[in-house]
Amino acid sequence: MSLVAGYVGLLQTERVVPWAKSPPGRYRRVEDHVGSVAATGGIVSSAGTTTGANTVTSPVGAAAPTNNAGAPSPAPAAISQAAEDFRRLLAGFEPDELTPSSCADVAEALAKTEMACAAARARAAARAARAGEHRRRGFADVQDWLSSRTGSTMGKARAEMETSREAEKHPAIADALRQGEVSLSQAEEVVRVEREVPGSAEALLEVARRSGLGQLREEARKVTLGSLAPEDLERRQHQARHFRHWRDALGMVCFSGALPPDVGVGIANRVDAEAARLRREVGPEGKSEPFEAHAADALVKLLQGQGEGSGRTEVVIVVDLSAYRRGHAHPGELSHIVGGGPVPVRSVKEVMKDAFVKAVVHEGVKVLRVKHFGRHMKAEIRTALELGQPPGFEGAKCSLPGCDRRYSLEWDHVRPFSRHGPTSYDNMQPLCKPHHWEKTQRDKGVS
Ligand SMILES: [Zn+2]
Repeated sequence: MSLVAGYVGLLQTERVVPWAKSPPGRYRRVEDHVGSVAATGGIVSSAGTTTGANTVTSPVGAAAPTNNAGAPSPAPAAISQAAEDFRRLLAGFEPDELTPSSCADVAEALAKTEMACAAARARAAARAARAGEHRRRGFADVQDWLSSRTGSTMGKARAEMETSREAEKHPAIADALRQGEVSLSQAEEVVRVEREVPGSAEALLEVARRSGLGQLREEARKVTLGSLAPEDLERRQHQARHFRHWRDALGMVCFSGALPPDVGVGIANRVDAEAARLRREVGPEGKSEPFEAHAADALVKLLQGQGEGSGRTEVVIVVDLSAYRRGHAHPGELSHIVGGGPVPVRSVKEVMKDAFVKAVVHEGVKVLRVKHFGRHMKAEIRTALELGQPPGFEGAKCSLPGCDRRYSLEWDHVRPFSRHGPTSYDNMQPLCKPHHWEKTQRDKGVS
């Protein structure tokens, strides 16, 4: 707790409800950059997605030789022949001879085919491996055989086989894989959550079909976190904490790990703020380096106790005032770390004992009325915006409908600053970098 002590903010949501209709705030996740404070952090809601479709169970290891459409399997020779023809076609493919629009069509068609191929490959490999075929081909180990044939790692080969085996127990997942609608990595995520929260697969497959792995993981996190009582979640997070390090080929010290959100979110936010500060300092020429490089510098500085405390709130806990007074939350009442998922009210009280509590909200309502016409945003407004949109307060994300990006966010004046838009809670919104750029171009066009 030492790293975050003194940086906890308590929000009394009773006082905040009048904020409705306001734009969401901003929140950047450092786990995307650091790659270590991940996994256990997250955001909650959508308990509704955990009910519905029944889980279909079939005996483990039972092979499913026919496909879901009931059509007979094509002869293996036909697949091998078609694959060879297709590879020949691809070898001669020249994107420069096509229009950009046709190239986009080809890219999309190939992406789908690639996923369908990977799924079929994993199923074929699993069947071959069960019969010990890899040994007849000179490999003592299945993963060794697969990784040498696919050019990937043993870990990935193992994960793919497990996913494909597990997916066969759930017709909807198996079918989405066969049709090339989702990737094996996506299916792995869906399978994992389905195991934790039976009946969640259908809704997650929908997310997987229309978005990438990042957004699916976020949805998966919501489903998993929403299915657990806060006390159970906290216990499991505590058990899942870990840190390990190793050396890579370059001699770099690499590390990975996972921290419970009550400490992890604070550390992530500090690294992020410090990295952003360092990036501003280096000026335009240093900007060619990726954000991750500055985040690494920031981490070192903070571990050495040299980071510049910017004085901003680093962990914000949203809790309903009545839940806080009672000591536990009733259904529908909030008690969560912004950007970190639910926490038991008891833990909030624990945290507050040794922390300086910044009662954001007490003055919060007033804060929102603060308007000024300088470009620079006041810290109180920023803090309020970073909570995200009421009533969930799940942290800021890009305000463009359907975008949902939570990293590399920038603050946008809804009514442009150049046209006397105030720097106020109501007129500021987070936008991801690309959408902020687009908005600025549009604003320029109008003025
Ligand atoms: Zn966006």
